[in-house]
Amino acid sequence: MSVAVQAAPDARSTMHEARVAMHPGRDLPRLEQFAYEMLCAASRPPVASIRLRAAALEPARLARVADSSASPGIPLGYELWLDYLFELEGMHRHIAFSPRALTAVELAGLQALNRARARFLREHTFCPHCEAANRRPARTCAHCHKEL
Ligand SMILES: [Zn+2]
Repeated sequence: MSVAVQAAPDARSTMHEARVAMHPGRDLPRLEQFAYEMLCAASRPPVASIRLRAAALEPARLARVADSSASPGIPLGYELWLDYLFELEGMHRHIAFSPRALTAVELAGLQALNRARARFLREHTFCPHCEAANRRPARTCAHCHKEL
């Protein structure tokens, strides 16, 4: 007697598929937007010491200054994946490896970083005095207030 064995839903493969579908590397529009936001946050110069001293007079204000230097609103999964991609991109400058050594998700992520960086460079200009990034078409630097 033969018994037809019907495949029961494999919970492990279903969870694996859900994890792959939710991977930040597969959501390229948001990944690119968050990469752009990380570049903007990284380009801000450190808060001037005079502002920090002023904030120290009011501790709640100091906490707000510290919070503003982080990457606000970027979900942790995207932030971790972007950190990995920035690291991978940095390694690529020192170690030559073929695009075939990368997974499709890594390659798509690096391409998203390139698009985000190109947008950042298109939309910003750098101050010749303090090197802070300013949004175009600013005429004076938002950080040192000198003419661009
Ligand atoms: Zn400046």
